Amino acid sequence: MSHPFKSEGRFVQKIEATPLVEVRLDPEGAGIWCKLEFLNPSGSTKDRIARYMVEKAWRDGRIREGGTVVEASSGSTSIALAMTCAQMGLEFIAVMPEGVSTERQLTIRAYGGEVILVPVEEGIHGALRKAGEIADDSGALYTRQFENPDNAEAHRVWTGQEILKQIPGGTVDGLVSGVGTGGTIVGLYSAFAEAGCEVTPFAARPVRGSAVRELECCSFSPCVPGVVEESVSKLYSEAKLDGLVELDIADEVVFDIARKLIRQGFPVGPSSGLNYAASLKAQEELGPGAKIVTVMPDRMERYFSTELFDSMNSES
Ligand code: PMP
Repeated sequence: MSHPFKSEGRFVQKIEATPLVEVRLDPEGAGIWCKLEFLNPSGSTKDRIARYMVEKAWRDGRIREGGTVVEASSGSTSIALAMTCAQMGLEFIAVMPEGVSTERQLTIRAYGGEVILVPVEEGIHGALRKAGEIADDSGALYTRQFENPDNAEAHRVWTGQEILKQIPGGTVDGLVSGVGTGGTIVGLYSAFAEAGCEVTPFAARPVRGSAVRELECCSFSPCVPGVVEESVSKLYSEAKLDGLVELDIADEVVFDIARKLIRQGFPVGPSSGLNYAASLKAQEELGPGAKIVTVMPDRMERYFSTELFDSMNSES
């Protein structure tokens, strides 16, 4: 992407293409095409939407240097927006429920962002309401990731085109993603369908198993951070995903697969375990020759104090 601020002498990091690699956990099993989005500058796929939504607003004259961006997110989106705003000379306010880890709050503050907490009982809805009030009162740019079409658009015109160039033969048969805002699945599905792929979309949903306890969240989900109740997202609920298949994955499986991915050298968080586990099911449904693409959204370092690292924490 080109950057409208370059002429102003600012350092605005170019977001390079991330690798697409075929990952095979079981040597006899299926290979899944994984987009290594945890390699983005702030550590997650949300760098794409942060940059795309803010640059679009800048080009449209909805924000200028020194302006303020506000978003309701305790997760990767806030961290990505905080970094984007630091590079673009903008202020940033993250609204999130109480209880989010110190590491996350400090990351946002270190980039110069402000963190506003709402009571934990109010959850995502409270955070969304508060962010709206701040935008109304101050005139800040509210990026509204759950309904902003530029979220999905970032993945349609950017991540999706990278994948189409990288995948052998230029075609995708199955697309698998957990749903937070829905931006990833909606944008990538459009990119692949428009390129003529006969692609089946699979939405991966974490379901509570016996081992779950309330975890701090990245995007308001209690067990697999980043993946929320779909009803929250207008972007997802109003999207047209032809032939959508929903795959439920028990959270024990999510954590087990995420740990196996880490053991093979992919430093990922739980949502990558969810996506990979669901991709194996998608492969079973579509057959061994089908090319399944999924995303590894973020990095393991954000989850050291969570269930993902329980066994290693108890060893130390
Ligand atoms: N994984 C992680 C770690 C996330 O933070 C998110 C989104 N918050 C997702 C997956 C889901 O992506 P999307 O919002 O594009 O549906």
